[in-house]
Amino acid sequence: MPYTGGYRDALETKVAVSAGRQQVPKESSTTVGRNSYAILILATLPAGPDLGRSQDNRCRHCHNEVETLGHVLGSCPHGKTLQNARHHQVRSIIATALKDADYNNFEEVHGLSITCSTQHIDIIAFKKSTRSGYIIDPTVHFETDEEQPAKVDNEKNNIYNPTIPYYLKKYQLKELEVIGLMVGARGTATLFMKDVFQRLGIPKSIIPIVTLAALKGSIALLKNHLY
Ligand SMILES: [Zn+2]
Repeated sequence: MPYTGGYRDALETKVAVSAGRQQVPKESSTTVGRNSYAILILATLPAGPDLGRSQDNRCRHCHNEVETLGHVLGSCPHGKTLQNARHHQVRSIIATALKDADYNNFEEVHGLSITCSTQHIDIIAFKKSTRSGYIIDPTVHFETDEEQPAKVDNEKNNIYNPTIPYYLKKYQLKELEVIGLMVGARGTATLFMKDVFQRLGIPKSIIPIVTLAALKGSIALLKNHLY
């Protein structure tokens, strides 16, 4: 089951309202309204293999996979540039929030793992007073199940833990923790994200800003794919 919590409740209300009116909701003339309407469109699109126009439902651009919403928003090479733009936008919002929370932070840092392979990390954030910090890797994923944020975090730990000694030395820190932070491609705010932000001391008001940025990026991807 997709997990969307309160977000889903709000969404279902919007779907019901829209279906009754058979027209664009009134608030669509405002920025917030346009976003709400976009959420509605994106969330009501089929997640299954119904987007494709070809007979075998394969992607109209890459023909690699069945053209699902997950493929369009997550893995289609046709959207690579926009996928990167969406990721950079999300990363930048989180980096700014960390700066506001008095972290020293750096984005897109190149380093070495203990096996001497090069790795680049999205964000490293630390406090000089405690000499401890975090390697944070936000990743936009198409939402699938409730365990997904923990799985993403686990994957990122496996990738970036071997780079910790390099960064401890580089920034003269005592400890670093890797956080793989999943952001939902359809704008889902996860409990995992809420917990991470709380732990980092980032105000929860940043959550809708992050999720909306991901959603806007996804809408751009969808538009680029379909039109
Ligand atoms: Zn494709």
